[in-house]
Amino acid sequence: MIVGIDLGTTNSLIGVFDSGFVTLIADESGQRLTPSVVHYPEQGAPLVGRPAARMRVLSPERTVFSVKRYMGRRVGEEDAKTPFRLAGEPGGPVQVAIGETRLSPEQVSAEILRKLKADAERALGCRVEQAVVTVPAYFNDAQRTATKRAGELAGLEVIRIVNEPTAAALAYGLDRLSEHTRIAVYDLGGGTFDVSILELTGGVFQVLSTNGNTRLGGDDIDASVVRHLEEECGFVVKDPAARARLLEAAVEAKHRLSDLEETVVTLPFLEEGSSREITLTRAALEKIALPWIEKTRAHCLRALADANVEPSAIEELILVGGSTRMPLVRKLAGEIFGRTPNCSRNPDEAVAEGAALQAAILEGKLTQVVLLDITPLSLGIETFGGLMNVILPRNSTIPCKAGEMFTNALPGQRSMLIRVLQGERELARDNWELGRFEIPFQPLPKGQARVGVQFEIDANGILTVLARDTSTGLEQVVTMTSAVEVSDEAVEKMLGDALENAFEDMNARVFTEARMKAEEMLPSVQKAMNLAAHLLSEEERSWIHACEAEVRGALAGEAAQPLKRAVAALDEATQGLAALVMELAMKPPSAP
Ligand code: AMP
Repeated sequence: MIVGIDLGTTNSLIGVFDSGFVTLIADESGQRLTPSVVHYPEQGAPLVGRPAARMRVLSPERTVFSVKRYMGRRVGEEDAKTPFRLAGEPGGPVQVAIGETRLSPEQVSAEILRKLKADAERALGCRVEQAVVTVPAYFNDAQRTATKRAGELAGLEVIRIVNEPTAAALAYGLDRLSEHTRIAVYDLGGGTFDVSILELTGGVFQVLSTNGNTRLGGDDIDASVVRHLEEECGFVVKDPAARARLLEAAVEAKHRLSDLEETVVTLPFLEEGSSREITLTRAALEKIALPWIEKTRAHCLRALADANVEPSAIEELILVGGSTRMPLVRKLAGEIFGRTPNCSRNPDEAVAEGAALQAAILEGKLTQVVLLDITPLSLGIETFGGLMNVILPRNSTIPCKAGEMFTNALPGQRSMLIRVLQGERELARDNWELGRFEIPFQPLPKGQARVGVQFEIDANGILTVLARDTSTGLEQVVTMTSAVEVSDEAVEKMLGDALENAFEDMNARVFTEARMKAEEMLPSVQKAMNLAAHLLSEEERSWIHACEAEVRGALAGEAAQPLKRAVAALDEATQGLAALVMELAMKPPSAP
């Protein structure tokens, strides 16, 4: 039995597909939604889910929540403040500090997975050892790998990682198998926002584009509501237990205001030792939440642009994630895509349902559906002159594989450094390095070595880079498990920078390419002139000299087009010279 798991920032769910439909499994207290919270008591086993969530108030420093935000992240990247302590070496993986104990985010996530696994085993009456787990579309390699590792720690083999919006579309799309539909999935959860544009044709889902922010969600709205309540009270709540109580009251009020126009927030025994009652209206909440929700608009527009799809071409708008229960979110999403959202599924459950359906596909219980995902950023390697050579372009459908042949820049070179890069910039130095390794090869004259480089992304989004010297068959295979852990702000920045610097970047690329050509041509023209200048007319010789001078002059500058033109002119001017040199070389040695 393969289970489907939505390992959410705020809540997690587990489901199975059996006898033709998905069942989401409830725990012993009949709840299907398990809060993604783990409490570590001073002694004894950790508490997971609802009992742990209750401990957030009593023991905030030993109660870990939203740990998904730290999966595969490095120290220095975490921006959110937490009542529990984070630790780790600067630049090293983020750890959670509970007393003297240091835990990886995977270990904390594994506790949640272990609980879900146990719930499923009890409900199903059999062992559960394999799972499909969902992640936000924007999770990078390190975050996906960390998710797999969390599964392993919990005794689950994660046989497939699926992007959350894709899973949701699967949950919604199954009943329209024969149609050709374009779908937008707007997923605003507790800690992450994802938007995807998908196309469904005859049972094949294809993700046309994805966009999002792994640090945007209901948690941000909660923090703003807490600040608002503090302002209303007229003081800042410092005591961690009181803060946790305040947060809980804020979240509950926010939820109530999805159905009511007004609610009273009761804040018992804050620092002043007195209780407060504060009235919060939906209008006030919407004013607080709007800046956060408004942030999703740019992501949606970018996803549409990347997919090359007009909002009017979207036939279905699916809302996923608990925060889409807010009327303001529904209104705004509807406005962006110009259509009424489809809310026919439970927004909390669609992703888990999709994961269970994907599990069923893998088990062969459902055969009509195929899932295709895409890469969020381009992947490639650095080549001569510090340029980015893209091997797998952004938005490639995964699983995918592509390769290219490279050669040596220097004669007698014995190895090549493969720098694996991710990003949209033309110059290698502006992209992120995911890793590097050397591939040795046989020393040969310049341009004669043949090194094949292949990039493969498996169905889990994990990148394997293979480099092979084709003459010896010697190869190096590296799996990119330590991708540069970058926040989504950085992903957005990369796309923005690439757009903003497109002109300068292209100039730099054209200049570098022309420079390399010029540096190769100048010495060989010199050599050819030494051999055959006397066979040219005076006019041809001075034409060549003038072109050489032009190239040297352009090399001293930075402008790409003049250099490119000068190189092309030199190439043309030396056509006759090249033919002469060729002829000389072919001539049999003259008889004495
Ligand atoms: P998820 O990550 O999809 O489980 O979504 C959790 C987020 O949804 C949290 O920020 C919750 O506060 C929020 N949420 C859940 N129910 C509601 C509701 N009725 N109204 C507003 N937000 C909600």
